[in-house]
Amino acid sequence: MATQSAPHPRYPRVFSPLDLGFTQIRNRILMGSMHTGLEDIEGGFERMAEYFAARARGGVGMIITGGIAPNHEGSGGGKLSTPEEAAQHRIVTEAVHAVAADVKIVLQILHAGPLAQTPACVAPSAIRSRIGRFVPNELDADGIEKQLADFANCTAQAKAAGYDGVEIIGSAGYLLSTFLVEKTNQRSDEWGGSFENRMRFPVEVIRRCRAAVGDDFIIIFRIPAMDMLEGGMSGDEVIQLAQAVEAAGATIISTHFTWHEAQVPTIATMVPRAAFAEVTGRIRQHVRVPMITSNRINMPDVAEQVLAAGHADLVSMARPMLADADLVNKAFEGREDEINTCIACNQACLDHTFTGRLTSCLVNPKACHETLLVAKPAATARDIAVVGAGPAGLAFAVEAAQRGHKITIYEAASEIGGQFNLAKRVPGKEEFHETIRYFNRMIEKLGIALKLNTRVDADMLMAAGHDEVVMATGIRPRVPDLPGIDHPKAVGYIDAILGRKPVGRRVAIMGAGGIGFDVATLITHAGPSAAVDIATFCREWGVDFAGHPRGGVTGVPIQIEKADREVVILQRRDGAPGKTLGRTTGWTHRLSLVRRGVKMIGGVTYLKIDDDGLHCLVNGVPQLFAVDTVIVCAGQLPERALHDELARRGAVVHLIGGANEAAELDAKRAIAEATELALAC
Ligand code: FAD
Ligand code: NAP
Ligand code: SF4
Repeated sequence: MATQSAPHPRYPRVFSPLDLGFTQIRNRILMGSMHTGLEDIEGGFERMAEYFAARARGGVGMIITGGIAPNHEGSGGGKLSTPEEAAQHRIVTEAVHAVAADVKIVLQILHAGPLAQTPACVAPSAIRSRIGRFVPNELDADGIEKQLADFANCTAQAKAAGYDGVEIIGSAGYLLSTFLVEKTNQRSDEWGGSFENRMRFPVEVIRRCRAAVGDDFIIIFRIPAMDMLEGGMSGDEVIQLAQAVEAAGATIISTHFTWHEAQVPTIATMVPRAAFAEVTGRIRQHVRVPMITSNRINMPDVAEQVLAAGHADLVSMARPMLADADLVNKAFEGREDEINTCIACNQACLDHTFTGRLTSCLVNPKACHETLLVAKPAATARDIAVVGAGPAGLAFAVEAAQRGHKITIYEAASEIGGQFNLAKRVPGKEEFHETIRYFNRMIEKLGIALKLNTRVDADMLMAAGHDEVVMATGIRPRVPDLPGIDHPKAVGYIDAILGRKPVGRRVAIMGAGGIGFDVATLITHAGPSAAVDIATFCREWGVDFAGHPRGGVTGVPIQIEKADREVVILQRRDGAPGKTLGRTTGWTHRLSLVRRGVKMIGGVTYLKIDDDGLHCLVNGVPQLFAVDTVIVCAGQLPERALHDELARRGAVVHLIGGANEAAELDAKRAIAEATELALAC
């Protein structure tokens, strides 16, 4: 990364080094810890080395690895407790330090406590977590001593492996945090009871780790700044803990929000940018060590604002570093409009983690696949037409142009983005604008020819004489074969989203996939979007950042401003609708709609639509939904007639995205397919 002596004109705080006394961090942006799954697969450390090295080259000041347990019982994945295990980590630390000696790499030590995926898991009390697999084994005095020794050993092994420090996670419902609250710590010895006793274990962990490595080693403590639990930690207790870990030898304190089991979204798309930063700022007034803030800080101007407001000394960006490895350099060089922004969808990162798949990124499928998806200059530059400027066509065009191909995009609409232009209208999906901004800028930068308002046919394409054609023509909505589907009450989801047809007060939504839920969100919405308004977010999710009641949660009934509509979401499948939504975000969509009074019914057979409404059988029993509007969200079919015609005429033609396969299509698959094709052609 370039260096400069004068303050950076746009981001003076982001690009000022942080002096820790014994060492310096080159700027104020760090890559937060994310589990990738790479540590658990063969050859994973080599892949991890390149994954982190790419971010080091991209300018980040400090990298925190995914969580590694200090022992078997704390494991949700790999562990670090022996010199042999430390030797594997050397591959990673050496790769990062080879990029630049002053970029720091820090190992996160994660003892999952009752959330560890092993019956040997341990906790202060034998209380099973709402989301844990096992009842944990209650630690006795020897057990506690063993855990403390294991933390210290892991820290020493991290130092031997070449790390610049460790981050100890003391939040999220993992071991350390379960000591902190009465809900999970019901001990009556010196490790339980008063708050002073309950915080003894995390503080002792820091003290032991410091003793194991001496002064010139970074120790970050991740504090549960707001655990979002009813009866959770008070603001005063958080400050008391921060001061105690500082005194015990922490170099930096990093704020973490929520336990995994809490019902407040903290990183999903509907969370406003930097919503939690003021909580960090309040704790920062009570400690001398630098503080890190995090959560939904996805662009450099947001990081600069957070630092300027005095909320933190360092800003953690985790998922944004998956989305764009070069984010920091792009900011430094004034190329912010080239940043491929994290849209907080969780679809390829956290949803993968929680379903045992390797982490990647919806907008950047190369993330965690750096050694497999490698862009090399094309052997022969070819003239390639891309039909359709949805996510698939755009991702192909940008990747292929970067490799040296001559690209022309034909798009029937007046703007690029495809279905993202529908998605971005849904409250909570405002970030989708960023993806479109990114692609617009890259088209301009790479000199890609863009022909908007141009619906091409086979004759036009054959006449244009391109070497190859990539069909990214997307989908057309499925129209169920149902009596009355052409009745004026029946409205397709595109017309409903674009407001091209009126939607009445009583609405049935036919289809409960992602689009059915998004349409329900859109038509029940009123007032500002919680995703861009922190006060609305607090009201909708029962959070009080300023007052910091116990856990940060108010406990008062949720207040949601909503449209005057009665809405029911229907699906043919048995069971509760919403099961196909994202693993880590589906619950937020379901809960938010239930709180808006939306009803959800499965086991429906549609019979007909007429002047009275939608006639169905619900679990075999006739039922009339007397609605004004039936919005059809019944999935999609591939739009590929043009492909078939071109192939018939002998053109070299490829199919990607929805045009290839509409079933279970999402933007993740569309972009990944496009990227793989662009790297291969
Ligand atoms: P499309 O986005 O459909 O793009 C196809 C493009 O081709 C269109 O712009 C069309 O105008 C153009 N075209 C077609 N024929 C021609 C022609 N003959 N000549 C020129 N141009 C042509 N996915 C997710 O992963 N996460 C989400 O949260 C999400 N939310 C969504 C919310 C809504 C409301 C909607 C509608 C979709 C959502 N999706 C989401 C789905 C996602 O947008 C699609 O999977 C993705 O857009 C598919 O990309 P694509 O490029 O294959 O097709
Ligand atoms: P979808 O998830 O496949 O859902 C389609 C719905 O229509 C289902 O509820 C299906 O359930 C119903 N259906 C299918 N055939 C039908 C028929 N012939 N008659 C009546 N109902 C029928 O598709 P989608 O909601 O259109 O979304 C498209 C893609 O966009 C999805 O794959 C999704 O991943 C993506 N997306 C994602 C998000 C997100 O937040 N992650 C948001 C929006 C869209 P039954 O058959 O049980 O009725
Ligand atoms: Fe961000 Fe979505 Fe990529 Fe995860 S998958 S890093 S949330 S854009």
